[in-house]
Amino acid sequence: MTYFCTLASGSSGNCAVYVNRRQRILIDAGKNTRYITERLRQLALSPADLTHVLITHSHTDHVSALPVLMKRTRACLVCSAKTYSAIASRLPLGVEKILFEPGEGITLGECPVRTFSTSHDAPGSCGYVLGSGAEQVAVCTDMGTMTGEIFAVIRGSAAVLLECNHDVEMVRTGPYPYPLKRRILSDQGHLSNGFSAKVAVRLCQTGTSRLLLAHLSAENNTPQLALSAVQEALARAGLEAEITLAARGELGQPVLL
Ligand SMILES: [Zn+2]
Ligand SMILES: [Zn+2]
Repeated sequence: MTYFCTLASGSSGNCAVYVNRRQRILIDAGKNTRYITERLRQLALSPADLTHVLITHSHTDHVSALPVLMKRTRACLVCSAKTYSAIASRLPLGVEKILFEPGEGITLGECPVRTFSTSHDAPGSCGYVLGSGAEQVAVCTDMGTMTGEIFAVIRGSAAVLLECNHDVEMVRTGPYPYPLKRRILSDQGHLSNGFSAKVAVRLCQTGTSRLLLAHLSAENNTPQLALSAVQEALARAGLEAEITLAARGELGQPVLL
């Protein structure tokens, strides 16, 4: 059985797992090791079972658990060379690793993984497409924007973890200081509900049938706004998909592939 499941999602911590017959791959390690261990246990897994730990980028909400987690597992760390440079000093010595340049393809055991560069304010930031065919999942958070090049990599994925960070009006009228508002709304920040809704339509036109809306801002979004933006865009386009929200601080609903 192959499945994908989020363990946490949002600016307070991001973590997910992709499990197939041979590999048990953690994607990002936000929150802390105790939190991740507890959520893995709910899936009948433990850190020792992990084969690989993939990191998208060096922001705290994606790596905070890593220094301790890598002591509890023999999993291979997989990240871009620039991401590794940013986090290496905090890691235990002797961690096995696979480093790549975003855009390169890699193989983890028998699992093909494509990588793509993301326009986000962390060096070497990237996204992943894991598996192939009916088991293909794309991880698209902390995106900044979506380019045609990225879309060409993620298109056709059976399931997509898609960032729906903010509602543009809530950011504009909200209490954040102007520089922070500008960062969020820039092409190096996060995807808005409206933008992701358009991406969702294009994805579903290429065969995506499961969408997990992720990395919702606690201050500048609500689950209802994110859900309705995507649902309404799909309905207008005459498309259907199973849409779920990646829970902020608890295990998400596993997506069976
Ligand atoms: Zn980030
Ligand atoms: Zn993030």
